[in-house]
Amino acid sequence: MQTLKYLKAVDPEIYEVILKEIKREDENLELIASENFTSLAVLCAQGSVLTNKYAEGYPDARWYGGCANADSAEILAVERAKKLFGAEHVNVQAHSGTQANMAVYFACVKPQDTVLAMDLAAGGHLSHGHPHNFSGMFYNMVGYGVDRKTEELDYNLILDLAKEHKPKMILAGASAYPRQIDFKVFREICDKTGALLFVDMAHIAGLVAAGEHPSPVPYADFVTSTTHKTLRGPRGGFIICRKEYAKKIDTRIFPGIQGGPLVHVIAAKAVAFKEALEPKFKEYQAQIVKNAKKLSAALSEKGFRITSGGTDTHLMLVDLTSKGATGKEASAILEETNITANKNLIPFDPLGPAVTSGIRLGTPAVTTRGMKEPQMQKIADFIDTAIIAKTDKQKLKAVKKEVLKLTKEFPLYPELLK
Ligand code: PLP
Repeated sequence: MQTLKYLKAVDPEIYEVILKEIKREDENLELIASENFTSLAVLCAQGSVLTNKYAEGYPDARWYGGCANADSAEILAVERAKKLFGAEHVNVQAHSGTQANMAVYFACVKPQDTVLAMDLAAGGHLSHGHPHNFSGMFYNMVGYGVDRKTEELDYNLILDLAKEHKPKMILAGASAYPRQIDFKVFREICDKTGALLFVDMAHIAGLVAAGEHPSPVPYADFVTSTTHKTLRGPRGGFIICRKEYAKKIDTRIFPGIQGGPLVHVIAAKAVAFKEALEPKFKEYQAQIVKNAKKLSAALSEKGFRITSGGTDTHLMLVDLTSKGATGKEASAILEETNITANKNLIPFDPLGPAVTSGIRLGTPAVTTRGMKEPQMQKIADFIDTAIIAKTDKQKLKAVKKEVLKLTKEFPLYPELLK
């Protein structure tokens, strides 16, 4: 891109870092379920002069002058997000998913209040109650998990826990859960126990936008999300709520926990929402799920155990026990072959979070490159060969050669390298 030449002239070291990252992204098979590749249009908006503007406040109610263009960007982002998710109110200023979540906690629960959320060991996110996260520090977090046998959510157990602990708020949503979540049942549990329903759809927002996963919006009091996972936008967050909570949520974001909004990121979110409203995006999300199902089936055939027996979404958890490897070992082995994945706890994992028995694999990024089922079969072959090869450098080198051949067939950002 043209702008890179200005960077090269001023700061050749950072230019070099960015060039290397373009090459890394191009030459690796990105299977981290929370990552994706934005369009060049999103990158342009994010790298624009809108970064220069202070715009504390909200459209037509700013604390600074000169905000007309910032207002236009934010109004476009909000209106598009409302249309995309059928929402009454959207706040697009949250700098990240965690900050979106923080704003909801701060709007609804007081310190020491009880919140029921998915256990981190079962697939919940840090902001769902990790002891070193604000959520675990400020609130009495009670965790729910999955059924030991099915490895799927046990809604009866969640209801029992809600009856026992009487949480003010129940949080649905996860970072590592491969099955559809029944938000209607969560609503019923909340209605029976008098809790607010808060859904964190960060991982599945793209699927929800495209109708590939049932939407939480009709059921939840609050929905938060990131914009950079399946939704394929810039790194950031947003919050959906009904009109009655609009003012509360907006004031918790600003001035509650943030200062000036990142106007350039808001503009990039607007671009991503526009892209997500296009029919092509529906096809893309459908292919993400088809690819995940194919990858999961192909790995199963090779003797890997997929937790819960498969996936309905963009991700899967692969239990490596039968292959004699840990998650930590597997992610290091795969990295040598240019396959990027992360170690992950499986349900009731006998190993701790630093080692783990599993890896989490996701298909959003490889699907963005245009890969389909035949390529998923190849990826399963690569993973199996690499994990069996373990420390055999020659064999790992041979897999890497095949990976490079495949990534070359599906180039990423060729325009950036011109
Ligand atoms: N919520 C869920 C379910 C997530 O998986 C993540 C990130 O992985 C987040 C929230 C936090 O997003 P961020 O990294 O933008 O704070």
